[in-house]
Amino acid sequence: MKAHNLVRAVLFAAIPLAAQTWQVRPEWVHADEAFLASDALQGRGSATRDEQIAAIYIASQFESFGLKPASNTPGFIQPVELETAQLDGKAQLTIGGHVLHEGADFYLGTSPGNGANGAVHLINAADLATAKVEAGASIFVRGVPASAQAFAALRTAGVSLIVAPGTKAQLDRFETAGTTRITPRIVGVPQIPPPSIIYLKEEAVLALEDVKDGTPVSLNIQATHSTKFTYNAMAMLPGTNPSADTILITAHLDHLGLGAPINGDAIYNGADDDASGVTAVLEIARALAAGPAPRRNILFVCFGSEESGGIGARWFRENPPMPLTNISANLEFEMIGVADPENKVPKGTMFLSGWERSNLGPALKEHGALLGPDPFPQQQFFRRSDNYPLALKGVVAHTAAAGGTPPIYHKPNDDLDHIDIPLMTQLIQSMIEPLRWLVNSDFKPAWNPGGAPTGN
Ligand SMILES: [Zn+2]
Repeated sequence: MKAHNLVRAVLFAAIPLAAQTWQVRPEWVHADEAFLASDALQGRGSATRDEQIAAIYIASQFESFGLKPASNTPGFIQPVELETAQLDGKAQLTIGGHVLHEGADFYLGTSPGNGANGAVHLINAADLATAKVEAGASIFVRGVPASAQAFAALRTAGVSLIVAPGTKAQLDRFETAGTTRITPRIVGVPQIPPPSIIYLKEEAVLALEDVKDGTPVSLNIQATHSTKFTYNAMAMLPGTNPSADTILITAHLDHLGLGAPINGDAIYNGADDDASGVTAVLEIARALAAGPAPRRNILFVCFGSEESGGIGARWFRENPPMPLTNISANLEFEMIGVADPENKVPKGTMFLSGWERSNLGPALKEHGALLGPDPFPQQQFFRRSDNYPLALKGVVAHTAAAGGTPPIYHKPNDDLDHIDIPLMTQLIQSMIEPLRWLVNSDFKPAWNPGGAPTGN
């Protein structure tokens, strides 16, 4: 035994320091992707059995790495109850003396699963961002809005109905394959109900020229309501200092599921969005769990139902396993499997959404993370992922991604064939030692002056 130990000691002394650092292996990255993005999982649709299987896989991996269930949580899965609706596609809009029918006259873009009525509040498309509106109002938009993003202020205000001319893209989408997007209600979490949004076809816009401020309007829909579940997979690597804070590493485990076929393919695999982010979470968990226990706690969470409105992250925010004030930073990984098609993100690196808002990105970069500023501020990526609900509550929370919007985005060919495994391996590898530094340091992640977002 002594001789054996001696051999070991000599061997270890001979290995250069760099070779002793953790190596993320491309076959692990490939294996995670191959399961999560497989056709068998049918695109991990939000709140489906496929999503649940993905959550169970992630939970099993967490357990096999030696992670523990989070405090106040029985296992590695946090179920979230949702109330959702099935529509019959025969909605009817009555406005003044006009009766309009879904399909023939308009499309129902999004729906909370119930109707609406009131008196029209008329707004010009150009004034949508600044108009003063009340919760529950019924909005009639004159002129074609640029996109559904133009309704952001109306949504925040909590209006119940938006009737607007459809853009060409919106109408085309429904002509071919579009279906009404139902926003489920999260049971037990107070929230502003989303509006019903109606996209008028051209002839209907002309027919409604006599609509004025105050014209009575009502939307009638037939809906069957049901209960569903979505799932967050969650695990903890406890720190050596029980009173230390927590670093939160996240991704979202769902994607779009089955949808309109493109070139005969109806499975929206979501290999990049966001099986790649889940793979990053898994491989970071594997690496850090294999090393010495960190000083800080590390919480790993893969959220369910991001694609239907950031639901898993919102539930987590209202039901965290430790007070949110104990979570000093959140790093979300989204779409790190495809290099930026426009080359705005330097090849082989990631950008961090909201980079300039806090000291976190620059500190990680200083420690070797292949991470840099966000070259797409106009796309508002900072507000478009699971980091945002947490950022609104004060957590220093950002999303790391490899590029802007690749051509495969939200298409059935976001599949394993289009994923750059060596790139992913390199990007995840670059995060291991910087995160190991972060969880062992007393560096304080903090918003820069004016960097914290406001809202709810
Ligand atoms: Zn995503």
